[in-house]
Amino acid sequence: MKRLYATAFRCGKPGCKKPLYKMNNETGEWILNSNVAHIHARSEGGPRWNPEMTEEENRSAENLMPLCREHAAEIDATPEHYPPTTLREWKQQQLAEYHAVQKAWPINDDEATEVAAQSFGTQRDAATAAGAAAVAAVARYAGRLVEISRRERRAAADAARAWREMNARWSRSIGPLFDLETGERLKGDEAMVRPPQRDTEQCWSAVQTALRAARTAMEPVVTDLMGELGTVKAVTNGLGPWCDRVERATRDLMTAATSWDMDPSAADDRMWCDAVAGLEQASRALGAACRGESAEAPPPQRLPSDSRLGSSPA
Ligand SMILES: [Zn+2]
Repeated sequence: MKRLYATAFRCGKPGCKKPLYKMNNETGEWILNSNVAHIHARSEGGPRWNPEMTEEENRSAENLMPLCREHAAEIDATPEHYPPTTLREWKQQQLAEYHAVQKAWPINDDEATEVAAQSFGTQRDAATAAGAAAVAAVARYAGRLVEISRRERRAAADAARAWREMNARWSRSIGPLFDLETGERLKGDEAMVRPPQRDTEQCWSAVQTALRAARTAMEPVVTDLMGELGTVKAVTNGLGPWCDRVERATRDLMTAATSWDMDPSAADDRMWCDAVAGLEQASRALGAACRGESAEAPPPQRLPSDSRLGSSPA
């Protein structure tokens, strides 16, 4: 076990960049992000079972390979897509990468025990543990996303307020408007005085800058969150609808956080507040469903709103 982790850095599936351990950004702690998979199953009837193999060969490093949890679950869930020859090629590449970059995870005995417990518990235990870990990660990323979005939102709100104040100044400075022909005082939209285009463009550009900054700050967390949702879907059964709901809520928050409704009545930022509440609820509902507590049914898909100004992806 220790030898396996001392000669591998990332998941053995080519193209998968997940390291075998990952940093918990809140505690700074390294947490196990992988399982040890068997190329040939360790018991009869298991994936790619090879009756010719001795028990010792079966337990040897040659028959084992560290993979991220998602791919460890995947190769055993659909072994027909992952024949032993393919897995041996992966293992060769994993070792070759280690020799090229000389990066690995030298682990101690306690850590080796943790790896074994998580990898060689029953198939069901391992999937349950991996699913619960990924659901917890989803909740962490959702919380962080709300935090970042709240911080970034202040700048957008300040810029929008400056814009509203400028509009108000202009309409005050001109005073009431009258119809040239009838002499009646104008009401509603007709009575609005437009500020000079240069001032409008300046204010709009400040709002856009704040919205783009929000997108840039949020995007990496959204990517991590979506990755964990993928893991939850891959290793658990029946949580798909709750994952989809979190995914929709995340996209809704991204849309709300990167746009601003310039209708002055929306000064309370209703859409963004709703999106934050929506993501928090969706994340809690996923956690409850994972623990097997009664969870509300996911809501039907909504249509996206197109009536708002938005910052385009950079
Ligand atoms: Zn992987």
